[in-house]
Amino acid sequence: KPGKRRKVVVGNWKMHTTSAEARQLAKGVANGLGNEDDVSVILCPPFPYLALVREILKGSRIALGAQNMYPEKEGAFTGEVSPMMLLDLGCKYVILGHSERRHKLGESDMFINQKVRFALASGLGVILCVGETLEQRKANQTEALLDRQLSLGLADVPADALPRISIAYEPVWAIGNAAHHATPQQAEDAHAILRGRFANLFGEEAAEAVAIQYGGSVDPENAAAFLRRNGVDGALIGGASMKADQFLAIIRAAK
Ligand code: PGA
Repeated sequence: KPGKRRKVVVGNWKMHTTSAEARQLAKGVANGLGNEDDVSVILCPPFPYLALVREILKGSRIALGAQNMYPEKEGAFTGEVSPMMLLDLGCKYVILGHSERRHKLGESDMFINQKVRFALASGLGVILCVGETLEQRKANQTEALLDRQLSLGLADVPADALPRISIAYEPVWAIGNAAHHATPQQAEDAHAILRGRFANLFGEEAAEAVAIQYGGSVDPENAAAFLRRNGVDGALIGGASMKADQFLAIIRAAK
């Protein structure tokens, strides 16, 4: 039944903002948040600004998330960031498997699965992104692709960690592409596929409980159309999370 699951709205700032802009943006969101208590809000700034955004979010109900991590506790991994460091900075969540990391940085399902398991074992919540390319959609491979990314990404995840997992369906062709965002029906269909697969993997009850967000050019104009769809439990926002007023409008649409 829709409405049972809490809606989640995540701002993925990607590799944007200066420290001054990060401060201003976080302040704008924190100060502008109204009585949308039934919507979970998560901000994911770039690593260098996690500490300063954390300070600004103190006393608000907005949670802090990171955009990536490396699946080791510590060690000789030049340039990488461990989940322990993220926890130390107050992060509650990490985005994993984002299509930009899959396609621009070559991350495999296996590597993403290592990250998912290590993040969960470390105590972080995971937002696992999945989504097909335009070629895959045209070749009718969407279902098989979602099936593969979900089952490989979540392989060997222990049942007690399931409440800390959410899924973001982000069709690659719709990200940062306002002219080509998916239709709400396409999102609903993909979410149904994902929830069905999640049920096969972990059971009906877990599938009913898991939040599945839609991502890909969500903006204040189209947000409500996505968010009132069956099985669309929130949104992962890139571009429109860069402006506090737009991001806040999307949160209100999720209410
Ligand atoms: P977009 O990005 O909202 O700019 O399309 C979404 C995402 O990549 O997470």
